[in-house]
Amino acid sequence: PPKKSIKDELEKTKLQLKELTGAVKPAESEKLKPGPLIQTFKKAKKVPTKEDIICQLSSSAIEERFIDQIYDGCLMTKPEVTWDDIGGLEPMKISMKEMIIDPLKRPDIFRGLRAAPKGVLLYGPPGTGKTMIARCIASQCDSSFLNVSASKLTSKWVGDGEKAVQALFAVARAMQPSIIFIDEVDSMLSKRTEKENESSKKMKSEFLVQMDGAASQEADNVLVIGATNRPDDLDEAVRRRFQKRFMIPLPDNQGRLQILKAVLAHEKIALEEADFCTVANSLEGYSGADIRKVCAEASMTPVREWSGFLDTVELSEIRAIELHDLMEAAERVKPSVSLKDLSHYEDFHKLYGDKP
Ligand code: ADP
Repeated sequence: PPKKSIKDELEKTKLQLKELTGAVKPAESEKLKPGPLIQTFKKAKKVPTKEDIICQLSSSAIEERFIDQIYDGCLMTKPEVTWDDIGGLEPMKISMKEMIIDPLKRPDIFRGLRAAPKGVLLYGPPGTGKTMIARCIASQCDSSFLNVSASKLTSKWVGDGEKAVQALFAVARAMQPSIIFIDEVDSMLSKRTEKENESSKKMKSEFLVQMDGAASQEADNVLVIGATNRPDDLDEAVRRRFQKRFMIPLPDNQGRLQILKAVLAHEKIALEEADFCTVANSLEGYSGADIRKVCAEASMTPVREWSGFLDTVELSEIRAIELHDLMEAAERVKPSVSLKDLSHYEDFHKLYGDKP
């Protein structure tokens, strides 16, 4: 009945406002008007259908088949990732909240000098949480999330890259606030060369045009996040379009401890604080993805003890993961990033990186 939905709406609005006012000083929070925030959430609640988007873009030159491809191939249902799922990277989390999430929620405050960047590059070794950060941002600000896996799509878009890029940005604008996340951005937007074919060149220049458009249209709430393990390969002009560039490094000891806790948060474990520290200490050089592998491997040991009886064993009979399971797994799973690779990231960081 309508009465209940109004009540629900009010409750939700109150919650959202609490969240917002938590982010600013109490005295200032009195002055903030809730309007745009609520509008943003209202807008986000109704996800436009493909037909809505096609209809909205019908007067543009964008072909329906590209809208189709983008909507079906890139649009992801709301990713559910919270900051607690991401271990370590504390300064980065704070920066992302202030620089991206608050502006996406309150475009009326964050304009002019305070305007948010329209392009953010995350670079660093593989498996350090770049994709997780992008998903978390989309989840926290209720944005549409367009996930473009560059290596998959460049092969799909052969010859049509330019039009596909146009459609990508058009769909993102139609569904704003939106985040376009381009994984392996280096493979799609690598340095331009003489030998390169015409269609690839066109795609890259279209991308630059679209990013410039996004940057100059302050009213548009479209953010491009690029992730790469090879920042050196990125086209120079593209690199400049990513106004903020952050290195996501391998986790330090404290980071590894937090990742272990985040990854094991929902598992049956018998571990003391000191055990977590012992494991974290022994995993120097491991990325977040490597640590996850170690935990996955360790979680198999209690199950293997029941081999031959798996048909009948009760779930509750399988013992918890213990310290020795993790230490033995760490012996078997080796770190995937070499020291040599790390120096590339440091060099790039010195030249072009921002501090979180
Ligand atoms: P990247 O995009 O940097 O290559 P991902 O974000 O895809 O890495 O991470 C791969 C997997 O590794 C994640 O799904 C997650 O399970 C784990 N992982 C990586 N970094 C972290 C982290 N900081 N905290 C928790 N899990 C992590």
